[in-house]
Amino acid sequence: MLRYQSLIVTEKPADVKTLQEIPGVGRYTAEAIASFAFNTFGSIVDGNVKRLFCRYFGIEGVLGTLTVDKQLWNTAETYTPTINNRQYAQGLLDMGATLCKPKSPDCEACSFTNSCILTRPIVSVNYQHQSLRK
Ligand code: SF4
Repeated sequence: MLRYQSLIVTEKPADVKTLQEIPGVGRYTAEAIASFAFNTFGSIVDGNVKRLFCRYFGIEGVLGTLTVDKQLWNTAETYTPTINNRQYAQGLLDMGATLCKPKSPDCEACSFTNSCILTRPIVSVNYQHQSLRK
């Protein structure tokens, strides 16, 4: 256990891969620790962020399948800052929880309306994504 405590109680941030060596710490938790505890690279992909990314980037498919999860994680990694990530991660979580809500996204109040796939007229009519119903 002391071995793992040294990963957390340190001045040098532990990276995601190292954090995943701690028993019981999976990818999501390791990425969250890196992001929120160390303010360094760590992608956040919780339910709210999945919904937000599916809508914003037009990721189609069934949530929970390997194909969709891989796209979501890849997307998250692409946009995650390598430094000072805490604010970005918290912003993503807040945006997913307060604006890009499950049943009625508040697109008028969202700063990303103009670039969001879901708000494009042709997409809003035809876009069917099972995650949007959750
Ligand atoms: S514009 Fe609407 S659907 Fe797109 S990210 Fe913002 S709140 Fe979500």
